[in-house]
Amino acid sequence: MADCIFCKIANHEIDSDFVYEDDQVVAFRDMEPQAPVHFLVVPKKHIPCLDECTEEDKELIAHIMLKIPEIAKSLGITTGYRVVINNGDDAFQTVKHLHFHVLGKRKMTWPPG
Ligand code: 5GP
Ligand code: ZN
Repeated sequence: MADCIFCKIANHEIDSDFVYEDDQVVAFRDMEPQAPVHFLVVPKKHIPCLDECTEEDKELIAHIMLKIPEIAKSLGITTGYRVVINNGDDAFQTVKHLHFHVLGKRKMTWPPG
């Protein structure tokens, strides 16, 4: 997707603070961190949002979910973290390329805002 910021980051067309990369995903620090550690895990495949995932994406999503604890540990998060997917307008999804927020190194509150 030519105009997608996360496709550009995944293709290394835009410099970012990467914390992990493999053939399927990149992870990089959020430019407006909402916690002392806040990174985004982004599939290299352009999928606009969770609603648009299909059976074909099953292994990719499982791969991401298993990578998150590994990356969190590598960044020194030892006492818990939150994983967030904003899907659609009510959730204030601002970038229309599926991404998983991972927030850690502070106490979270519940319910979320
Ligand atoms: P959303 O609201 O779509 O769930 O979250 C998008 C996130 O991407 C926001 O937290 C925002 O700060 C982050 N973001 C948007 N553009 C960029 C960028 O160019 N670089 C980085 N590192 N983060 C970005
Ligand atoms: Zn994209």
